[in-house]
Amino acid sequence: VKKALIIGAGIAGIATAIRLAVKGYRVDVFEGNSHPGGKLSEFEQEDFRFDAGPSLFTMPQYVDELFILAGKNPADFFNYQQLDVVCRYFYEDGTILSAYADEEQFAAEVNQQTGEAVSSVKEYLKNSANIYSITNHVFLERSLHRLKTYLHWDTLRSVFRFPQIDASRTMHKANQLFFKDKRLTQLYDRYATYNGSNPYTAPATLNVIPHLEQHYGAYFPEGGMYNIVSSLVKLAESLGVVFHYNSPVEEIVLEKQSAKAVKVKGELISADVIVSNMDVWFTYHKLLKQHPHLFPKKILRQERSSSALIFYWGINKQFAQLNLHNIFFSNDYQAEFDHIWQQKNIYRDPTVYLNISSKYKPDDAPKGCENWFAMINVPSNTGQDWGSLITIARQNILSKLSRILGEDISGLILSESILDPRGIENKTSSYQGSLYGTSSNSQFAAFLRHANRSSSIKNLYFCGGSVHPGGGIPLCLLSAKIVSDWIA
Ligand code: FAD
Repeated sequence: VKKALIIGAGIAGIATAIRLAVKGYRVDVFEGNSHPGGKLSEFEQEDFRFDAGPSLFTMPQYVDELFILAGKNPADFFNYQQLDVVCRYFYEDGTILSAYADEEQFAAEVNQQTGEAVSSVKEYLKNSANIYSITNHVFLERSLHRLKTYLHWDTLRSVFRFPQIDASRTMHKANQLFFKDKRLTQLYDRYATYNGSNPYTAPATLNVIPHLEQHYGAYFPEGGMYNIVSSLVKLAESLGVVFHYNSPVEEIVLEKQSAKAVKVKGELISADVIVSNMDVWFTYHKLLKQHPHLFPKKILRQERSSSALIFYWGINKQFAQLNLHNIFFSNDYQAEFDHIWQQKNIYRDPTVYLNISSKYKPDDAPKGCENWFAMINVPSNTGQDWGSLITIARQNILSKLSRILGEDISGLILSESILDPRGIENKTSSYQGSLYGTSSNSQFAAFLRHANRSSSIKNLYFCGGSVHPGGGIPLCLLSAKIVSDWIA
C-alpha cells in the first residue's frame, strides 16, 4: 500500500486525504493546530457561537462529491439549505436591495429599487455564464501545468473562445458598460473581493463569479460552516485517514531532489508522496529553507491577496431588516480599493460585510440576540501599525452601521473579539495573512499561480487556496481533485 502524507488539515488537505484514501492510499495528515479546518474554524464567545472564517457557502456539490466517491449518501452526513435571499445590500443613500436567488425576481427588484433595466441584469448574467462555460474546464477543473490539459478537446474548444473571457479590460470597466446605475456597477465590482482582488485592476474574467452565485446558488450548511469540516473529517476517518493534531511539520526532507519524509517533533516520517496544504510561500520558506536554489522565485514574489479585519460581536438585539449576508457599501469604492492596494491602509468609509449565522441557526445566539461577524477588506500584513488602524476602523464601522440602521450599535455590544491579518497569518500560516494566496489583479494571474506539483522537487504536491486554481472553499476542493488525479 502506498503511503501519502499531507501537511495541514485545511479544507483542501482534508479533501485530498479523502480522495487519496478512496484511491487506496494510506493517508496521514499532520496538522499544527489542535483542530482541523484551518481558516474554516469556529469558536464560542460567552453564549455566542461564531464561524471564524468563511461564511458564504457555494458549490456544495463539490462537498457532496466526496461522500459519493466514498460510496456514501451525502444526505446521511451533511445537509444544507439554499438561501432565497443571497445577500442584502445597503447603500448610504438609503437604497436597500435584496439579491434574490431567483434571477427574474432579482432583476425585478433591481429595476424597482434603482430603475436599472431588467434586461441589463439579464445580459450581465448571460455574459457571466458565457465566461464560465469557457473557463471552467480549462482554468478551474484541471491543472494548467500538465500537457494533458492542452490535449483535451474541451480546452481546444475553449481556446478558440478566449477573446470572450474579457481578460484585457478590468472588471470595473466592463461592469460600467453593462449598467447605467453606479450602484449596480459597485454591486458587481464587489465580486473581485471573493478572491481578494481589486476590481479596478483585476481582469473582467472574474465576472465569472456572479454566475456561480446566481446560477448555482448560495447555501447554509446545517449546523453552520464548521460542519463542512466536521463531517468531512468524519468521512476521512471512516476511510482510515489518520489525523495527527498539534503536530506541526518542521521540515520536508529531500533525497536527490525528491521529497522522502517530513520531520515532526524531531522525528522523521517517510511517505511515497507528500502533499502540502500549507501556504506555498511558507512551505518553501519554512519547510524547505535549506534548499533556496529550488524555490520558484518569481512565483513566490507575486502580490498577495487582500486580508480581512473582523469584529465578532455578541449583539443584544435582533434586527428584522438584516439577513444572513449583508453588505453596507462605501460611498467611494475606488477610494476604498486605493487605500487597500496603493496606500496599504484602511479607508475611512470601508464597505462592511455583516454575517449573522443566528438568522439560520438561532442557537448561535441567546434569545433576543444576534451574533454579528462584521468584516472589512484590508491590505495584507506588511508591518502596518495595526493597533491604531483597528481603533480607527472600529469607530468608522460602528458609525456606518449605526447611521444606516438608525440605531446606536456600540451600546448593543455584549462581547467582542477581533481577528486581523496578523492573527490570520499566525493561526493558519498564511503568508501576510492573505485570505486567498496571491491576488488576481493581473491579466495573467490564472497562469501565474503555483502549480499543484513542484517542478523542481519530485513527489511534492500542493493543494489549497495559495495554489492553482485559487482560494475560496470551492476552488480549494477543486485543487484536491486536481492533485489527487495527478498523483494517481
Ligand atoms: P487553510 O485553511 O489555509 O489551512 C491550512 C492548514 O495547514 C491550517 O490548518 C494550518 O494550521 C496548517 N498548517 C500550516 N503549516 C503547517 C505545518 N508546518 N504543519 C502542519 N500543519 C500546518 N472562502 C469561501 O469560500 N467563502 C467565504 O465566505 C470566505 N470567507 C473568508 C473569510 C475569512 C476571514 C477567511 C480567513 C477566509 C475566507 N475564505 C472564504 C477563504 C477560505 O477560508 C480559504 O480559501 C480556505 O479555507 C483555505 O483552505 P486551505 O485548504 O487552503 O487551507
